[in-house]
Amino acid sequence: MGFEKVRFEKDSARALEDKKLQHALVNVTNRFRSARNKASGEVADWETLRARGRDIKKETIANLDKYLCELEESVRRAGGHVHWAGDADEACRIIVDIAIRNDVKSAVKSKSMATEEIELNANLERAGIRAVETDLGEYIIQLAGEHPSHIIAPAIHKTKDDISKLFSEKFGIPYLSEPEELTKVAREKLRGEFLNAGMGISGANFGVADTGTIVIVENEGNARLTTTVPPVHVALMGIEKTIPRYEDLSLFLTLLARSATGQKSSTYVSFITGPRRETDIDGPEEFHLVLLDNGRSRILASEETRESLYCIRCGACLNNCPVYRQVGGHSYGWVYSGPIGAIINPQLMGIDSAPELPFASSLCGACRDVCPVKIDFPRVLLELRHKVVESKKENYGAGGAMIEKISVRLWRYIVTSKNFYNLTSKISYYLQLPWRSGNGSLRSLPFPFSKWTDERDFPAIAKTSFRERWKKIKQETG
Ligand code: SF4
Repeated sequence: MGFEKVRFEKDSARALEDKKLQHALVNVTNRFRSARNKASGEVADWETLRARGRDIKKETIANLDKYLCELEESVRRAGGHVHWAGDADEACRIIVDIAIRNDVKSAVKSKSMATEEIELNANLERAGIRAVETDLGEYIIQLAGEHPSHIIAPAIHKTKDDISKLFSEKFGIPYLSEPEELTKVAREKLRGEFLNAGMGISGANFGVADTGTIVIVENEGNARLTTTVPPVHVALMGIEKTIPRYEDLSLFLTLLARSATGQKSSTYVSFITGPRRETDIDGPEEFHLVLLDNGRSRILASEETRESLYCIRCGACLNNCPVYRQVGGHSYGWVYSGPIGAIINPQLMGIDSAPELPFASSLCGACRDVCPVKIDFPRVLLELRHKVVESKKENYGAGGAMIEKISVRLWRYIVTSKNFYNLTSKISYYLQLPWRSGNGSLRSLPFPFSKWTDERDFPAIAKTSFRERWKKIKQETG
């Protein structure tokens, strides 16, 4: 799968102009932040839990091969099928093949960033299979033909008015002003989809190695229906979502719910261990777990940035990031946004596809302070910035490095030679005149200086140097 280059600078500039978007972002992220702060403050040993969560993730990721094999064995033992997908294309092929084998015409989906990552809906559609998102936010985004802009609140950029207009246009119904009325419409539409679907597709918050249990947390009940009503359930899980033991779950469920929405526990927590058994009253006849790599092994191989894989996708870093809170999720150009997007997108997509993202941060560390598994974002971002610089050197070869070297040498020569400095100051004074504005600043210079003046003014170069003025003052005052 090829990637379009992320244009963070351009897209974020557009987002900053969108007042409606910024209002929506600040509103929602403020709500999430205060809920998270209250919920974490209620737990006396919150910091100990975070440290424990990080330790478990660190140990798991360091021994991921062992835990993945254990997970595979446990799922098979419970009657499920396990598939290994090296990349997005392979994952889509596996899922489409399962659908074709089961004569599936339509599928229901619960919220899953991994399925967004592999563009599953488009692939199912090409195979003639209708895929319907059933999480309310995802449903809205699918109707609008857009992409999610937040890990746990995909439609965060949409206002109630946007959604009312969208429903009215898509369903031919009158404009509804109450959220309850809109939810009712969505619920009625989706009920039929659940009943008719030949396949349910979900993500997975955790895959437990010792029991083969897939855990899904949610608040709407749609994931529970997705995984129990259709006769076939396929769960797509990034390999980093593995945790070693069932007994570790209570820790991670506490960290996740409190960090994400400020809840003590998510409303629905589904524990899925294989397909339906004879004594079960519901559940699918077939259960498939697709383990997705798609660049994760590459991250695993890098000791410096490996901790990016500890993420449990709570969204807290987004809600607390001063950059995300202004520019929103779409500026990050791919599935993951905010601080986690800034570190994981360049690694999954390839550094040359998203070279601006590691720089989309002030390195303030607010993300690290709230991350339930204590990912050291500033450190990882600096590592990635270093990789971007190295990659540019490789791509532009000796030419790029040479230009940089010549520019620095020239600058050093100018500022360390009095005569040359005076001469270049005089020349620059006259050269700048066509761009000088009324208030004496330079507002729009040609390339490459435009890189500065696109964002801010540049002080104009004075006609006389400080030395000359000082000399004159001294002469005048004797
Ligand atoms: S990086 Fe940490 S704070 Fe951000 S989504 Fe992942 S777990 Fe949550």
